[in-house]
Amino acid sequence: MQLRIPGPTPLPDAVREALARPMINHRGPEFAELINDVTRRLKPFFQTSNDLLILTASGTGGLEAAVVNTLSPGDRVLAVSIGYFGDRFAEIARLFGAEVVKLSVEPGRAADPAVVARALAEQGPFKAVLVTHNETSTGVTNDLAAIAREVRRTDALLLVDGISSVGSIELRTDEWGCDVVIAGSQKGWMVPPGLTMLTMSRRAWDAYATARMPRFYWDLGKARAALERGQTPATPAISLFFALQTSLGLMEREGLAAIAARHHRCAERVRQGVRALGLELFAEEAHASDTVTAVRVPEDVDAARLLRVMRESGVVIAGGQGALAGRIIRIGHLGWVTEADIDEVLAALERALPLARRTPLAR
Ligand SMILES: *Cc1c(COP(=O)(O)O)cnc(C)c1O
Repeated sequence: MQLRIPGPTPLPDAVREALARPMINHRGPEFAELINDVTRRLKPFFQTSNDLLILTASGTGGLEAAVVNTLSPGDRVLAVSIGYFGDRFAEIARLFGAEVVKLSVEPGRAADPAVVARALAEQGPFKAVLVTHNETSTGVTNDLAAIAREVRRTDALLLVDGISSVGSIELRTDEWGCDVVIAGSQKGWMVPPGLTMLTMSRRAWDAYATARMPRFYWDLGKARAALERGQTPATPAISLFFALQTSLGLMEREGLAAIAARHHRCAERVRQGVRALGLELFAEEAHASDTVTAVRVPEDVDAARLLRVMRESGVVIAGGQGALAGRIIRIGHLGWVTEADIDEVLAALERALPLARRTPLAR
């Protein structure tokens, strides 16, 4: 079975074996060694020397933690949204009482850094800017370096949803000046869902000191204090830490640059293959994602039937979310993926297409 959705992603055998290890005391020396080890080894993948905290939660928990640890009710926030997950980030901030100014971009397109600059100048000042690096719902990667440059001309914090990019697509946390960057274990990390990792800059910690949104489970100050003792405030998903430690070994052996290059090659192969089948990419060419490809479903093809036929042939891909349901399909190519896997996905798609036409030819 080929699982090619944009998370959860397939697990290498070594990672699956790590998940089966016996439990350890999360207040004992083995866990302290484990959390210190993975925390230290994650930082190069975020290209940061900032604090990095690991929470037991899916990525959305990390988004919520980023918001409630840096903001207060009434704070003005610019939410740059280019899709479903950008909307989610904005909604979390709004729900906790931030005054959210939303900059929405047509689905399939990236945010224009010049438009972000104008919003910062004309509608600011803002306490924070929320940005999705890689919008998984549309298969679009924002030019985060350029957006960050504009944000850094102001005093606003930059909170980045890097859930489907960090570890797969280059994200230079420190060089670009990202204050909080959030990742999720089930995306490019080859680990099951359940851990979110986030980085906190000094500016973010300064904001933490005065942030008044309610927080308990997500309190990063408590997480930082616990980490100093090699612990977490509540019981962590220990098995997932075992898995992450093993996957980090695999990732270090390959190296960040080679991992990013492999993701780019796989993405290019998907894009070429999809076009060769006469299909259209949903994302604008220049910003097409290296971790997930969204494909327009032709008028005469039933998207649900297409997904079902592919699944029955052993290849699982994703449909569209929200308003894009039925209009696009999404192929995940992140984490443990090779060009040979891509060829299997494309072959399955080619076989499935004629069977998913709304008016199939008489057979
Ligand atoms: C998957 C994803 C999320 C949501 O993460 P969960 O782990 O499902 O909570 C948020 N943002 C992006 C960009 C994602 O890819």
